[in-house]
Amino acid sequence: MNETIPQLRSYDELSLDAAFVTLAEEVRTAGSGDPETFRLHWLGRKQGRLKLISDAWLKSAPAEARKPLGIRFNQLKQQIEEALAVAAAAPSAPATKGGIDISLPGSVRAPGIPHPLLKTMNEIVAVFHHLGYSTALGPQVESDFYNFEALNFPPNHPARDTQDTLLLAGQQAKPSRDRLLMRTHTSPVQIRSMVAQAPPIRIVVPGKVHRNDAADTTHSPIFHQVEGLCVDTNITFSDLKGTLDHAMKALFGSGVKTRFFPSFFPFTEPSADVQISCIFCSGAGCRRCKHSGWIELLGCGMVDPTVFASVTAERRKLNPSDDAYNPAKITGFAFGMGVERIAMIQHGISDIGHFYSGDMRFLEQFA
Ligand SMILES: [Zn+2]
Repeated sequence: MNETIPQLRSYDELSLDAAFVTLAEEVRTAGSGDPETFRLHWLGRKQGRLKLISDAWLKSAPAEARKPLGIRFNQLKQQIEEALAVAAAAPSAPATKGGIDISLPGSVRAPGIPHPLLKTMNEIVAVFHHLGYSTALGPQVESDFYNFEALNFPPNHPARDTQDTLLLAGQQAKPSRDRLLMRTHTSPVQIRSMVAQAPPIRIVVPGKVHRNDAADTTHSPIFHQVEGLCVDTNITFSDLKGTLDHAMKALFGSGVKTRFFPSFFPFTEPSADVQISCIFCSGAGCRRCKHSGWIELLGCGMVDPTVFASVTAERRKLNPSDDAYNPAKITGFAFGMGVERIAMIQHGISDIGHFYSGDMRFLEQFA
């Protein structure tokens, strides 16, 4: 709104008409704001625009011009009051001005999607669910006993060096088996399940694990594993081979081949690394398989009798005659795979960091 007081050059009828037409127009165009602001602006007792203008114009007006000026100011005041009455009758008029345009597209809220790691983890778990496995879970803060000792990593054994462990502070006063750490693998859930339940056992264990690894394109201090355990009478290495061969074909397509290499894990004997034929070059050799035609994917083996002995010792604390995990009667196999590694191969992702970056441009590709 124009705050200056307009100048009146002459008091003849034509000049007055022109001046008041301008003022009336000013009132009309200013009418759409807040009614109270509008009222104060025009009709305020001391600083109202109507008073300021009439004071200024009447002060210097010749006597004969006072009456026509007064009439015009009254008309203007009436117009202002009418505008205020209209605004009061429709107080919310500015908010709904123009109404709702039903031809505009609606605001669509995109549905959420599972994170690609969760998606891959669910796929792996589903393959084993179809084989009759059930899901077991365990804590991420684990005791030394479940994470290492019961899995045949004795205290101070060099095998522990292969898993750079994040230990919880202030545990030195406890016996070594009770000291807490961030679990380095999902394998402690094997022990927890066997202590809680007699054979037969068929479980898959998806979950987060933690290691003191510096982050690079293939390492992250937090990553995910899916572990499996099968214990029953007459479980053999050929059951292990058949199960994993089926699982790899279910995950990567019926064309993939598997092969098993001797390996070492403290909690399995014999142990093996499993490779699948390269899904990018079908075994011909390429950059991704380092020109070998094979990709190493997971570790596995037959459950070491020492592990069964640890489980039996725990179970005998509750039932001294327990013999459910007598290695003379039962056998079993276990396997474990990294979810990130499998997801990276499935989707051709070269940097593990993408999974944790929260970058929508990356994540939206999996919608
Ligand atoms: Zn290849």
